[in-house]
Amino acid sequence: MTRIQTEGSYGQAVEQGLPTEAYYGPRISEIAARSLAGESLTREEAAFILGLPDTETDALTSAVFPIRKKYKGMTVSIQLLTNARSGNCTQNCAYCAQSRDSKAAIDKYRLVDEEKLLGDARVANEKHLSRHCIGLSGLRFADDELEEFAAYVRDLKKESGLPICCSIGFLTEDQARLLKDAGVDRINHNLNTSRRHYPNICTTHTYDERVANIRMLQGLGFEICSGGIIGMGEEDADVLDMLFDLRGIAPQAVPINFLIPLDGTGLEGTDTSYITADYALRVLSLARLLMPQTDIRCAAGREIYLAGREREMLRVVDSIFASGYLTAGGQGIDDTIALVKAAGFTPVVD
Ligand code: SF4
Repeated sequence: MTRIQTEGSYGQAVEQGLPTEAYYGPRISEIAARSLAGESLTREEAAFILGLPDTETDALTSAVFPIRKKYKGMTVSIQLLTNARSGNCTQNCAYCAQSRDSKAAIDKYRLVDEEKLLGDARVANEKHLSRHCIGLSGLRFADDELEEFAAYVRDLKKESGLPICCSIGFLTEDQARLLKDAGVDRINHNLNTSRRHYPNICTTHTYDERVANIRMLQGLGFEICSGGIIGMGEEDADVLDMLFDLRGIAPQAVPINFLIPLDGTGLEGTDTSYITADYALRVLSLARLLMPQTDIRCAAGREIYLAGREREMLRVVDSIFASGYLTAGGQGIDDTIALVKAAGFTPVVD
């Protein structure tokens, strides 16, 4: 696996007892200033950021913080995720426990009980969360399934009024219009990785089909949430390719997930040891530098890969999921809100 290492005189600096920031700091500041001024970063600048040594993480997150503050203030959006349909997917995405090839022990259900969805919406409302995200396994849906789900969405909108985002695979234009009319504000459709690496993680559909689906949804006026997964055996060049493609798509939100290789999935046992907290912070910082005004969300894996580094993470990202699963008492939500406050930031409602 090729990892970028930013050239510099770091070794020399250490040998001479000189501060390493003298070598990297000015360039980091210059790149951050260009991003803050609304200028587009070059590929070479992005590679420099991704390849920085771990010693520069503090300098990097400090340089990125003013960009985050300019566009997002000190607020953090917290989203609640409900799995509305689970398992039995026809696709073979290697990271996914719901794929047709997965042996992972998961609950499988066609469409969650409406009361469960409404219950989650009530909790999200009471806790003043920003958005209710609803995930449905599968890539294509029969019209009657979509009509049933659209009826749920209408009820949810009446119940909570919260913005609703659906992670819902490929839709026909008519199905997408149905969801829009029902009140879905935003659709999540991730690129997941680069075009080059995509066939290594999924062969039942293509990267370009994903891009085309997103473009169709944008044409209908949906907001788009689209991001990726780090840790699936990709090269650093793939991370750059994906982030530059995302910049071209210009989604409203970019979730960055860090792979948790689940037993029974195609990526069981994958070596993710290169995802150190510093590496994760560089990826998130780069996403912010490339897309300064976008919601940058640290999604799956944050509790594992960024444990203890939340303050630094929130200097860069402005959006996270409520941790853990929703319990009757909403404990995961309370913990997440407490974490945000302890880091000096303010949880918000969109
Ligand atoms: S299409 Fe979605 S639900 Fe199906 S395997 Fe891929 S990620 Fe999982």
